[in-house]
Amino acid sequence: MSSKKLRVAIIGAGPSGTSCLRAFKSAQEKGQEIPEIVCFEKGEDWGGLWNYNWRTGLDQSGNPVHGSMYRHLWSNGPKECLEFADYTFEEHFGHPIPSFPPREVLQDYITGRVNKSGIKHWVRLNTAVIGCTYDPSSSVFTLKSKHNTTKDEVTETFDYVITCTGHFSTPNVPSFEGMESFCGRILHAHDFRAAEEFKGKDILVIGTSYSAEDIASQCYKYGVKSVTCSYRTAPMGFHWPDNFTTVPLLTRIEPNSKKCHFKDGSTAEVDAIILCTGYQHHFPFLAPDLQLKTANRLHCDSLHEGVVMIDNPKMMYIGMQDQWFTFNMFDAQAWYARDVILGKIAVPDKAKMEEEWKTCRVAEEAIEATDEANIRYQANYVERLQGFTDYPTFDIEGVVQAFLEWEHNKHENIMTFRDKPHKSLMTGTMAPVHHTPWMKAYDDTIESYVEGNKQ
Ligand SMILES: Cc1cc2nc3c(=O)[nH]c(=O)nc-3n(C[C@H](O)[C@H](O)[C@H](O)COP(=O)(O)OP(=O)(O)OC[C@H]3O[C@@H](n4cnc5c(N)ncnc54)[C@H](O)[C@@H]3O)c2cc1C
Repeated sequence: MSSKKLRVAIIGAGPSGTSCLRAFKSAQEKGQEIPEIVCFEKGEDWGGLWNYNWRTGLDQSGNPVHGSMYRHLWSNGPKECLEFADYTFEEHFGHPIPSFPPREVLQDYITGRVNKSGIKHWVRLNTAVIGCTYDPSSSVFTLKSKHNTTKDEVTETFDYVITCTGHFSTPNVPSFEGMESFCGRILHAHDFRAAEEFKGKDILVIGTSYSAEDIASQCYKYGVKSVTCSYRTAPMGFHWPDNFTTVPLLTRIEPNSKKCHFKDGSTAEVDAIILCTGYQHHFPFLAPDLQLKTANRLHCDSLHEGVVMIDNPKMMYIGMQDQWFTFNMFDAQAWYARDVILGKIAVPDKAKMEEEWKTCRVAEEAIEATDEANIRYQANYVERLQGFTDYPTFDIEGVVQAFLEWEHNKHENIMTFRDKPHKSLMTGTMAPVHHTPWMKAYDDTIESYVEGNKQ
């Protein structure tokens, strides 16, 4: 490293941002010199989406609310698939816990690892990045931030920027004929907070993503009267309960009514329409040339190794892919970004990066349209990244098998897959079965889930 200490800005202190903090701390613990790290987090605390926010719309500062988490969310995949390789659930909680923790438990786990490292002083909470430009002549970023309450604005320079602001906050909201006079509630999944709201109601869920499947299941658990699931290309394909109906896409809503018409000619009267229609990658705080423009896919546009911006290798992004793997993939990416910054990994020249990017895109486009093929593509990606750094190796094929088991359980019964235990690939411990089946478990506090499963 040069004699002038490098400065690195990390934008966002969610799972991706905290993975970066942990990566740098881990190098420091091994005696390596690290740059000055400043992490900007616009929220009141770290943890990203896992830091639940009941607000919708705008926050007190007039900024769009980042959170898309809902009150009763439990992990939709086995925790064994996202476990950090350098910090296990067992180490954090002191004993094994079941496989599908509620959000509060996962938040505790994510923040527990970084809390233990004593690096919270690297994070400027309540501080949003509101501008960022790059000057190629000086190779320096000028970044402007604003404190939520004092409104103080600070402009400073950095040598590298790592954007970790997530991509599940800016809703993609399509419009359908008749929406303007629909006599019920229309909301996007981003604004869904508590399934109790829909108890005794007839709802229409549009989309087939994780949000659609989980919000529909949540509403069932909390007493919805009926769910109509509307799909664009293919149905979700689960064995839904008897009060579910699957129909093709909504075509129109009769004026001044609750009556929805679908592509197959069928109709349904519903009290609410929940749009589970995805999110957009959105980085308005960055200069246009620094903004990642990509669809939600496994191999993002414009990024070398899914991390480094090909047009400007000093700009990096973590966690921008469509996600099967999450926390441990963010770690593998963060360790990679760290080692590029520390000069341990040399990124190739632009032409070579473009060539490699194209090869990966061809491979991505050739993936069979099965969940297994998609999971394997991402598993290979994580394994490849891991090979570049000292992030602890783990049994990635074991994670793939856990994903496949989980998929099988979901297709067997979408309302009971969370009752099945999975084995940790990090410790080899089989998870205990939660004391109450998910459908009947209304207490999703950390006390119930962690203390209540102490054996
Ligand atoms: C409803 C929902 C449920 C999910 N459930 C699961 C699950 O069960 N299991 C799983 O593994 N994954 C799940 N995910 C996927 C989720 O993407 C990841 O778990 C994870 O939260 C992504 O981490 P991140 O740090 O990339 O983004 P985020 O968690 O979104 O964190 C980004 C952070 O950046 C901050 N930020 C944004 N803009 C700025 C700015 N301009 N300046 C400063 N700070 C800024 C935000 O305040 C936030 O703290 C879910 C996602 C959603 C939306």
